[in-house]
Amino acid sequence: MGADQVQVVRTTKELRAVVKDWRRAGDSVALVPTMGALHAGHLSLAEEGLRRCDRVVMSIFVNPAQFAANEDLDSYPRTFEDDMRKFAQAGGHLIWAPTAGEMYPEGFATRIQPQGAATGLETDFRPHFFSGVATVCCKLFTQTLPDFAMFGEKDYQQLCVVRQMVRDLDLPLEIVGCPTIREPDGLAMSSRNAYLSDSERKTAVAIYNVVSEVARKVEGGAEITAACRAGAADLAAAGFREVDYVAVRDAETLEEVRAASGRPARVLAAAWLGKTRLIDNVAVGS
Ligand code: AMP
Repeated sequence: MGADQVQVVRTTKELRAVVKDWRRAGDSVALVPTMGALHAGHLSLAEEGLRRCDRVVMSIFVNPAQFAANEDLDSYPRTFEDDMRKFAQAGGHLIWAPTAGEMYPEGFATRIQPQGAATGLETDFRPHFFSGVATVCCKLFTQTLPDFAMFGEKDYQQLCVVRQMVRDLDLPLEIVGCPTIREPDGLAMSSRNAYLSDSERKTAVAIYNVVSEVARKVEGGAEITAACRAGAADLAAAGFREVDYVAVRDAETLEEVRAASGRPARVLAAAWLGKTRLIDNVAVGS
């Protein structure tokens, strides 16, 4: 296979056969779960996988279980040929690209319902979301049986939910959180940035500026509720049409933080710019 090509498997049976051969040869395995439309953020997770393991599997699956009926499942960007080339060039080994029928065959009837870190924030606005994410990640983990799975801090609550699930269900792998990769102006890379018009793209960076500013204020001893309220007002003033939340949470448990406690904290925000919902987060004290 050339530098632009990579093996693709579409059934669990084929995936297991490839991974079994690697294991027989003594190779370690990293998994990078994605929904495709790859950008430098996704590739940074693959690179971290390559640093830690002999083999890197990237799953590309636009997971219907994590989209509500009114969300963007049908319009979600799909760029499979491009994704294959980028992953191959990054040195990845295998793309796991199941069909929806392979992942959720006729009669599929089990779902994981995470609580704890899944409480509030995204769940208040996308109540179906973490159940869909946890169910598909659990399946991806048991299908691939990797040593490590890489997740971006970009989706910080998701990272915490997946970590919690792995702990709670004794899943035999380690979750690795990787830093958010940003555009030169600071906007977090996201497949959904492709939805933004030119003028929205210019406005979009305000979400990063706002979470950074709230973090600075909280570090400086500002009152948390007031700092978050000011952040939401700044987003609205910048042109965001609706602010779902600007919040400060414990960096590990995601429990609410009402006053500085000395424990690591995170500022998280979600807001709508036209038809696009953007999320971002930064550490307090980074
Ligand atoms: P997605 O394809 O959007 O489901 O994302 C797949 C994985 O890539 C998730 O673990 C995301 O957190 C991660 N990811 C997405 N965007 C970024 C980014 N800008 N920097 C780092 N990781 C990212």
